[in-house]
Amino acid sequence: MKISNVDVKTLKEKYGTPLYIYDVNHIKRNMDGYLNYFKSNEFKTEVLFASKALNIKELIRICMEKKISLDCVSVGEIYTAIKTGFNPSKIYFHGNNKTIEDLKFALNNNVGVIVCDNLMEVECLNDLASSLNKNVKIMLRMNVGVDAHTHKFIVTAHIDSKFGVLYDSIDYKKILDIIINSKNIEFIGFHSHIGSQIFDLNAFKARAEKMVSYCKGFDKPLELNLGGGYGVHYTDADSPIPFDIVSKTLINTVEETLKAQNVKIKKLLIEPGRSIVAEAGYTLYTIGYIKKTPNKEYYFIDGGMTDNIRPALYQAKYDADIVGKENEKKDHIVTVAGKCCESGDLIIENYPLPEAKMGDLLITYTTGAYGYSMSSNYNKALTPAIVFVEDGKDKLVVRRQTLDELIEREI
Ligand SMILES: *Cc1c(COP(=O)(O)O)cnc(C)c1O
Repeated sequence: MKISNVDVKTLKEKYGTPLYIYDVNHIKRNMDGYLNYFKSNEFKTEVLFASKALNIKELIRICMEKKISLDCVSVGEIYTAIKTGFNPSKIYFHGNNKTIEDLKFALNNNVGVIVCDNLMEVECLNDLASSLNKNVKIMLRMNVGVDAHTHKFIVTAHIDSKFGVLYDSIDYKKILDIIINSKNIEFIGFHSHIGSQIFDLNAFKARAEKMVSYCKGFDKPLELNLGGGYGVHYTDADSPIPFDIVSKTLINTVEETLKAQNVKIKKLLIEPGRSIVAEAGYTLYTIGYIKKTPNKEYYFIDGGMTDNIRPALYQAKYDADIVGKENEKKDHIVTVAGKCCESGDLIIENYPLPEAKMGDLLITYTTGAYGYSMSSNYNKALTPAIVFVEDGKDKLVVRRQTLDELIEREI
């Protein structure tokens, strides 16, 4: 098996397993899919990468090359970006409970836009900006009452979300008051993010109508940030909408809504995370012991929930192959289990694979988002290495953690 013309078995020999592998051309194609089609004649557009999906230097470098901005949700993510040389004015800082220290860090490092999540944050930021004598641009995260965390979306659900402000609420009015009177805060527009792994474009339409209506009554055209959440293919149960169609639909919907409501905006932004990196990523494991129980057959792998928590956390499903046996008969129904001391540490359950032997390589697909970024040292597992492959070349971009690194902070 090859990825971008690099033999997967060679990668195992060079870097060991478990190993995260990314196809760089695939990442770039995904980025171009948004960059080329998320465009309008009516307003400016900007594409952000929601870096929590994979916040590492090498990916941030690719964002720089592609002129993609960054969505960061912590000081750690901002720090990684700045240390990579990323222009902080292109960073949007999110989060429902940014601490005073977080906000101070963002102001002192000239982060471009702070996406404020609630009234108290706006109050604290205003005081802080004033005491540090800094000017800051803010967007306001809105709870638009459209919830699309599943395959279905529900309008007016979830008014009690921990994220965002309800339009026209008491808090909203107080925030406007602060903004109008603030010497340090410049309000530039509204943000919303309605869920993840969304396949229903109607959810985006319902949301666009609300967000456009929020822009009425301001004396300058605002910016609207539509968040991320565009679905990807994990297994054949998922049918994602191609980026060009997602992009065009979002643009058309907003253009039509603006016309219908007679509103103008300055800029439209999106911040996909998962859909940029998920399908470009693979995880490679070595199969150890194989065990048969009365009702099951297990293939044990040398990783598990420490490098991919999603099956345990959300019952996420994945496809897999035994490397070199892709075309063999898949006549074993197996459960792929990790090596952690948790019965729930199963990567794939009751899944058809060919007969395997100890030492075979197992590869899981679409592990590029929220795999490494949610990895842990549970059981003192070492965080795997990440290798980027491109046109027959491989490049180690994160080396495997060492045993000494595992204990270096312990006193
Ligand atoms: C997580 C998140 C995203 C990205 O979501 P994906 O499903 O990875 O596209 C974008 N914006 C905000 C505010 C988020 O919290």
